[in-house]
Amino acid sequence: MSAVIANALIANRVLREGTGNEIISKLNEIDGTDLSLKEVLGTVAGNVHEYDLDVINAKDQETGEPVYILVNKEASEAAKRATLFDAGEIELFKAILDTLYSPETNSPRDRFSISMGLIRDLLDDEIKKRYSYAETKYVIERLVSLGWLTKYVRQGDEIIAPSLRTLAELNSYLQEQYGQEGTDTYRKCAGCNQVFTIGRQCTTEGCRLRLHNKCAEIYFRGRDESNQKCGLCGADFTTALTVHPLS
Ligand SMILES: [Zn+2]
Ligand SMILES: [Zn+2]
Repeated sequence: MSAVIANALIANRVLREGTGNEIISKLNEIDGTDLSLKEVLGTVAGNVHEYDLDVINAKDQETGEPVYILVNKEASEAAKRATLFDAGEIELFKAILDTLYSPETNSPRDRFSISMGLIRDLLDDEIKKRYSYAETKYVIERLVSLGWLTKYVRQGDEIIAPSLRTLAELNSYLQEQYGQEGTDTYRKCAGCNQVFTIGRQCTTEGCRLRLHNKCAEIYFRGRDESNQKCGLCGADFTTALTVHPLS
């Protein structure tokens, strides 16, 4: 049974709990077993360790649904390995992440997403000299197909954002580059302490409070609207800004 789950993870890198449970219940029916997704994932994690892979728990920032992601154990090496990319393409990927996390992109409010039509113009000049529009688009499409970037459609416009895989597997890299020692644009949710790129942001300029939508519900549970204040600056949080690639 663990082979089926391992295959699902290897093929997609990301397995949603709902999908995993569906697979497990079908297999339990066929095999006459009574295994849980957790047990099977434990076996899978044990088996992939020898390939320097690991299964980590994350969650969908919008729905809060648990997701399991197959990652390279050496996070710092992750961008270099297993990506099927050459050095130039990795450089371009890093430049795209720089743009997604730049203070310009995320001011006056967080976005962590950029229109496909604009992204090349926003890249570093040195990178632009080396990559044409067509090449940039080609690499972005490959990054999307391999799960390193996510593509949304907003009013007919294609929007690029970091994927669940990137947020999980490259988390240390993102923190290093864009944390307080870097551009200081890396954000965490004050509710769950996990990475934040989608959710709600305090309206006060410079205030760091961010909450995923589900986490905001928990954070303010039992309080009426007049009492939903930012825990850091005291501003009204009912008017908090929406941070989402589709807004
Ligand atoms: Zn959260
Ligand atoms: Zn605030």
